[in-house]
Amino acid sequence: MSETKQGTIHVQTENIFPIIKKFLYSDHEIFLRELVSNAVDACQKLKTMSAAGDYKGDLDAFKVDISINKDAKTITISDNGIGMTADEVEKYLNQVAFSGAREFLDKYKGVTDSASIIGHFGLGFYSAFMVSKQVEVITKSFTENSQAVRWTCDGSPQYTLQNSDKTSRGTDIILHIADDSEEFLEPSRLKSILEKYGKFLPIEVFFDNQKINNTTPAWIKKPVDLNADDYQSFYRELYPMVFDDPLFHIHLNVDYPFNLTGILYFPKIKAGVEPQRNKIQLYSQQVFITDSVEGIVPEFLMLMHGVLDSPDIPLNVSRSYLQSDGNVKKISSHITKKVADKLHEMFKNDRADFEKKWDDIKIFIEYGTLTDEKFAERAQQFALFKNVDGKYYTLDEYKNHVAGTQTNKDNKISFLYTHNPDEHYTYMMPVRERGYDVLILDTPLTSHYIMKLEQMHPDLHFARIDADSIDKLIDKGISSVSKLTEDQKKELLPLFEKCITKEKFTLQWEDLSETDPPVIITQSEFMRRMNEMNAMGNRGFSGDLPEFYGLTLNANHPLVTKIMLQTDNDKQEQMARQAIDLALLGKNLLRGEALAGFIQRSISLID
Ligand code: ADP
Repeated sequence: MSETKQGTIHVQTENIFPIIKKFLYSDHEIFLRELVSNAVDACQKLKTMSAAGDYKGDLDAFKVDISINKDAKTITISDNGIGMTADEVEKYLNQVAFSGAREFLDKYKGVTDSASIIGHFGLGFYSAFMVSKQVEVITKSFTENSQAVRWTCDGSPQYTLQNSDKTSRGTDIILHIADDSEEFLEPSRLKSILEKYGKFLPIEVFFDNQKINNTTPAWIKKPVDLNADDYQSFYRELYPMVFDDPLFHIHLNVDYPFNLTGILYFPKIKAGVEPQRNKIQLYSQQVFITDSVEGIVPEFLMLMHGVLDSPDIPLNVSRSYLQSDGNVKKISSHITKKVADKLHEMFKNDRADFEKKWDDIKIFIEYGTLTDEKFAERAQQFALFKNVDGKYYTLDEYKNHVAGTQTNKDNKISFLYTHNPDEHYTYMMPVRERGYDVLILDTPLTSHYIMKLEQMHPDLHFARIDADSIDKLIDKGISSVSKLTEDQKKELLPLFEKCITKEKFTLQWEDLSETDPPVIITQSEFMRRMNEMNAMGNRGFSGDLPEFYGLTLNANHPLVTKIMLQTDNDKQEQMARQAIDLALLGKNLLRGEALAGFIQRSISLID
């Protein structure tokens, strides 16, 4: 080509670029991802050809260089890859790349809300015009004696193509940055974008002569070639700001029926700290795409950290489409299966270690059980229960452990539990004295979780140790003789009724043992669970349900006998109030004025 060639990119819309720019407003930075991945591709193409014997020329280290010229207001992306001949420039940039841009616009025609467009799509080369007023491409093909060319385009459909004196193989893309995009001329800004998208690109990438990537990240290696330290140090590389070691990892490597590699880590979740979501990074052939993976990773696995890399995940579609995409669904169920496999394997191979980790992973397993049927099935093999003695059981083991003492006449087994042994101290003793075992179930999901288990195992029911009369649930009252006659009970009832708010408490007599407390506050297991689930944001209910309590009077307690025998009415009422307040105090229900009254009364009783 001896002189400058001018041409027109065939286009119906007079000027496509302002439209591109407008559409992509929120995500301009991806121009860098697109251009750098093109540069990396160009290198890899030549590498592949060379490996196949189709290219015999010199092979200097493949690399991509990015630099800023602040004075000229340009950003240059250079590679020493395959390059393009004049014909190829015409073909690829004027036709192929342009048709990519057109396709994008057609797809989103009529979509006025740019937020509804997923921010990530393969717009390719033309994304350069989001930030540039002019784009220059200077390129020389790898083929022998090829003439280098220079293509320029200012964002209108007109372009120029002329010879260039570039002597080395490869392509320089020079972006003349538009006035409203000068932020990208800031080295720190550009570097952070490069580090975000290009941290693990497979060809060496330099910015200001500094290498910014690790070309062989752990997930592309074979698990047999990695040891525990390698996995830990890759975790550090991904999350330099996270200090705790992950609890375990899963290395994914699938090539049929879809391609997926990656490493998922289970982080240490700190009590009281909201676990961080959106910590999984999605890559497509080592190019970072996004770290919001809803729809790709099952909801309960969103707590995990790590990397997924799949060329099969469509990137240029909306989120709702993503969720119904067949490949994505398969990927999602595959990951779930792998996670269950890993947990089961950990449980089988080193149970002691698994038990040590249990408290950190239980909420995750509960969540998985609640949201994923298949996982729920699998989890029955390794999900554990810890009792107040610190022993761990699987569901089947625990059934066997308590079947003898905690089975009722309908052959249902009661799993008794507390959410907090300290808070339930007064309830614990009577239950333990009866020889019952108590589990600790203390996550925010407990109520949902045990409902799910009751559904899955119809022979099972759960009751918290402050639930209304545990004995009734188990059908094994310890004492059936009563020290009070039915008439005496009736006679005493109004005295106790006077001391409580009727709307909140239901009084009842029970013939418990002498060693049980005189007054016990209980709560309906069902109502309490509903309230808890309500508090968790269960949409089945609106507003808080009122709190109801049962107030059980122990007919066999010596104090109750004493109250009955007291002839001084005032004293009798004081004693009844004191007994009830002590029970309320034990359940942390005595507050404010009632608490002050109790303290006053206690002092006068000491006097
Ligand atoms: P895609 O990369 O998805 O094919 P692009 O619009 O990004 O679409 O690029 C269109 C074509 O232009 C590429 O397929 C490639 O053939 C060519 N191309 C782009 N950048 C380069 C480069 N740096 N070196 C060689 N060829 C390139």
